[in-house]
Amino acid sequence: MYEPRMRTKSMERFVCSKEPPNRSESLLRDSAKRLGISNAALEQIEKPYTFIYQRLPVEVEGEVINISSGIVLHNRARGPYKGGIRIASDVNIWETNELARLMTLKTALADLELGGGKTGIRVDFEKIYGMFKDRFKLGFYPFCDMLKDHIMKEFVDHFVERGLVRIYIPAPDMGSSGREMMLFYNRTHDPAVVTAKPEGIEGWLPGRHEATGFGTAYAILKYLEHIGKDPSEITVAIQGFGNVGSHTAYYLNDYGCKVLAVTDFYGGVCHEEGIDVNELMDYARENRTVKGYDDKHTIDNDTMFRMPVDILVPAASGHVIGKENCGELGVRLLVAEAANMPVSYEAFLELKERGIDLLPDNYVNSGGVIASDLEYRQGLGGTRYSRTQVFDHLRGRFDEMFGNMLEIKDRAGSFTQAACDIALRRIYLAMKTRSLI
Ligand code: NAD
Repeated sequence: MYEPRMRTKSMERFVCSKEPPNRSESLLRDSAKRLGISNAALEQIEKPYTFIYQRLPVEVEGEVINISSGIVLHNRARGPYKGGIRIASDVNIWETNELARLMTLKTALADLELGGGKTGIRVDFEKIYGMFKDRFKLGFYPFCDMLKDHIMKEFVDHFVERGLVRIYIPAPDMGSSGREMMLFYNRTHDPAVVTAKPEGIEGWLPGRHEATGFGTAYAILKYLEHIGKDPSEITVAIQGFGNVGSHTAYYLNDYGCKVLAVTDFYGGVCHEEGIDVNELMDYARENRTVKGYDDKHTIDNDTMFRMPVDILVPAASGHVIGKENCGELGVRLLVAEAANMPVSYEAFLELKERGIDLLPDNYVNSGGVIASDLEYRQGLGGTRYSRTQVFDHLRGRFDEMFGNMLEIKDRAGSFTQAACDIALRRIYLAMKTRSLI
């Protein structure tokens, strides 16, 4: 029977008792010292405003499955809570909390009038599929789509009932996409309820789908300009080939960089002379993985991380580079964090010592939320933006952020620390102005 197995400690797995040590708090503590912000004020900035734990009961083939999920509303000193919905087998409340805190730091660095929030929905699709596959005649992916639809409809009901509409504005994150965002619109008919709505839905934004990958590639391009390197001299490896990884590969390839290796959850491909990114994108769109694209030239994550390349782009899950594997990385110039929190604090310090730059997540992958900000404001009844305008706007914001970071980088110690100083200062000032600290 399915239910008893799912009942075992499913909430406990989600709600851990104490926040584990994490990078954003370590960085914030350093920044607060540099900026002269007191510990008492810092604590209010670090901690979330609200945690919500939700059990989402969904019916599959006549059986009820209970899914654990959580919403963290971290900070709205500068505007409504903003942050994606992550659907994965290993999310927990503290990861969701750190991702929400990161959103607060990201929206502040980009100078958006938004705060930070996040949703984590814990679903082990493979395990659940294993329990139903004898009865469900279609394959794994149609099963996942159906299950996700059920879960998200339940989630959206809770979201509306809790009065979160326009208080917290979700978007896609790992495991979710425009398809899930559309369900918020279906329920509310409010174009400002959610961002990354699919093409043609009231208030959708041309370019939003590619914005995070576009921004990541542009952030890398700015860095290359800064160090005086031509993209055609640059080799790249990318972990993750979903929304962010695939579009990053596409735009980097367009700038002239050579993408040597790509991995995803199921496998990887490596071509020493450079992957045909367009062909790989077509393959992955059809097969939902890069696995099987070229069985003669496969690569796994660990081998790819050890590969000598100029730039390594983690664009999948968090916590993939820590002190245990940092020393083995083959990267020569730069780690660009397209994923959220892929590099631990200790690994960041080690990379710094080795002279390898780290461009932080709250800068590199902020293209998504910058475009989302436009989409949200468009949904509130403002102007209609074209794809060209969206990309021009993204370039402008990235130019400004990079300039701001460069101005204080040497004083702060690195790009990562500079990004944190800028964000913390803005959040602190907004909270002070609003008498929240
Ligand atoms: P996605 O679900 O579209 O794709 C995730 C990719 O990572 C898939 O290719 C998956 O197979 C791969 N992956 C997962 N676990 C892996 C593992 N252990 N090893 C190798 N590959 C693995 O997700 P996405 O939207 O592309 O998000 C990727 C990252 O970017 C996440 O960290 C997310 O938080 C961050 N991010 C996304 C957005 C956005 O707009 N989608 C914005 C900002 C940050």
